[in-house]
Amino acid sequence: MKNVCLLLFVFVNCITAQQTDYVDFIEGDAMFGLVPDSSKVFGLMSYKFKILRDVDSLFIDAKNMTFEAGITLNDKKIDFKNNNKQLWLYHTFKKDSLYEVLFNYQAYPKQALYFLKRQDEWNIWTQGQGKYTSHWLPSFDDVNEKVIFTFSTLFKKDYTIIMNGRRLGDSLSKTVNSASFVMQHPMSSYLVALAIGKYKKESLKTNSGVPLELYYFPKDSLKVEPTYRYSKRMFNFMENEIGVRYPWYDYKQVPVHDFLYAGMENTTLTIFSDAFVVDPIAFNDRNYVNVNAHELAHQWFGNLVTATSGEHHWLQEGFATYYALLAEQDIFGEDYFYWKLYESALQLKSQDVNKQGSSLLYSKASSLTFYQRGAWVLHALKDKIGASNFKLAVKAYLEAYKFKSVSTEQFISKVIEQSEMKMDDFVKTWIIADEFPYDLALALLKKQSVFIQEYEMVDCEAMNSQCYDYLNSYISDKAKIKIIRQAPQLVNRSTFRNNLMVRQAIAQYLTKIPLDLKEDYETLLNDKSYQTIEYALYKLWLNFPEERSKYLNATRNIEGFSDKNIRLLWLVLCLNTLEYKTDQNSKFYDELVNYTSSKYNAEIRLKAFQYLDLMQACGTDCKQNLMDAKSHHNWRLVKFAKDLDKRLQ
Ligand SMILES: [Zn+2]
Repeated sequence: MKNVCLLLFVFVNCITAQQTDYVDFIEGDAMFGLVPDSSKVFGLMSYKFKILRDVDSLFIDAKNMTFEAGITLNDKKIDFKNNNKQLWLYHTFKKDSLYEVLFNYQAYPKQALYFLKRQDEWNIWTQGQGKYTSHWLPSFDDVNEKVIFTFSTLFKKDYTIIMNGRRLGDSLSKTVNSASFVMQHPMSSYLVALAIGKYKKESLKTNSGVPLELYYFPKDSLKVEPTYRYSKRMFNFMENEIGVRYPWYDYKQVPVHDFLYAGMENTTLTIFSDAFVVDPIAFNDRNYVNVNAHELAHQWFGNLVTATSGEHHWLQEGFATYYALLAEQDIFGEDYFYWKLYESALQLKSQDVNKQGSSLLYSKASSLTFYQRGAWVLHALKDKIGASNFKLAVKAYLEAYKFKSVSTEQFISKVIEQSEMKMDDFVKTWIIADEFPYDLALALLKKQSVFIQEYEMVDCEAMNSQCYDYLNSYISDKAKIKIIRQAPQLVNRSTFRNNLMVRQAIAQYLTKIPLDLKEDYETLLNDKSYQTIEYALYKLWLNFPEERSKYLNATRNIEGFSDKNIRLLWLVLCLNTLEYKTDQNSKFYDELVNYTSSKYNAEIRLKAFQYLDLMQACGTDCKQNLMDAKSHHNWRLVKFAKDLDKRLQ
């Protein structure tokens, strides 16, 4: 293989001969079955492809798979080699010829396809990006190989099967549910997705007529509205803002147990963590809105146009982050929008201070860089070339490269074409330089937002006489929160008359509760925020030991977020309160230990383990659950379990 390096504008481009130079895989058709008890997948796979240059071998990525019935090419058996990473096909492939390869396969994937069981019910799901779809489906690890897929699979009757693309109808069998899905356009293999579970769904249509399917577990029926709040509105907003119609047939969103990330933007099928399935109270602190908008934006930025390699990853994450923020601005307002940009600018600055920053084009840049600096590039670019040029350039870029791969220079070329401006300095400063241009970013924010100006002005780090007045004036909530964080001793009775988030700051930062604020502080236990209640319960319990029973009684029926933050804290406090329900201590302890078992999501288990560790009370059952946790797919849980296990030895 030969490397050719070209110098284009200010970018250095190294072009390596790839398989995509020799062959174009056009259609992929998979018919597969799952054996969940043995974590097995087996199936029949066919690919149609066109040869672009004469070649005598080519491969399909297939990790630890077996092909016992051999491989046929245009109905004839051919030679192949399986090296447990790739399936190599040997044949004299002729330029411009079309071929069809067909084979059976089976695999026991250790990653990318996950079989979970909760309360005797299966929840099966996939994660391609970072895990490689080729562990369960013979496919292509190279994102530049885009294929039009068709899928058929089957499962037990009372389960719902969800995959990418348009559903072609379910079977009428009494015991088995089969489903087929067809994609109309090509996509990279990392976007292939499957989710199976006992789901229900809510169906909507967007203004442009795109079907939206919002899936949920039946037990969560009351959480559907807060979980999916603004879904349709954001979809409509996104289509208008991007200026290019949604490129796929429909859009489905499915929560799964113990997902690896917040969400994953598989084409037409976003899979997200059930930690975002929230009730109306949890919505106030931890909702799905941002993730919802982010994964939706990827349907254009990432799925329609895909970054050709790691150094252009910001074309996916930066765009998804920025357009999600625009969608949120439409809902939560300008101050929210500028606040988020301000927060990310501060994080990027501190990343540089800690020598963790890098160029946006560094393929191993941090998530913060890809996501937030990427978003900042777009915000600064919009300011430089104007909103109208910006929109037209993005539109031209999407239309020119739809269903293909893209690079940073291709995007910048469209910007130059549209704006007729020189971009060299902008690209150097915002994209290439190792350091994030914090001063420019802050100056831009101050120019755009009075709210940010005010926030910057208020500073009580070095206490000054104005701070008390600020706290009681009409400054923004964010500025008040800043004062409470910097000078909690200024909190007074009138501070409690603020809204939810300012009150949450009181609960968080006021550690020593003065007696004259006790009554006001106790009202925090009634706030519509599980975060506030958790802070307040713990601090009241600490500050007023003689009234512990009262506080525990007031919170005894609250679960909290999906990680049961309040319930777990409550159990721990009960076990440490001598005068409260002592006769039920063993019941409370058993309940706490039970939360470490595999019946629960990783985040609940982790929290329960942490509390038991803190109390030095990880007994026999807890230790047994610890062993089990060590083989979980959630790395945080695994790491904690291994560390704790070592310490307990
Ligand atoms: Zn993303």
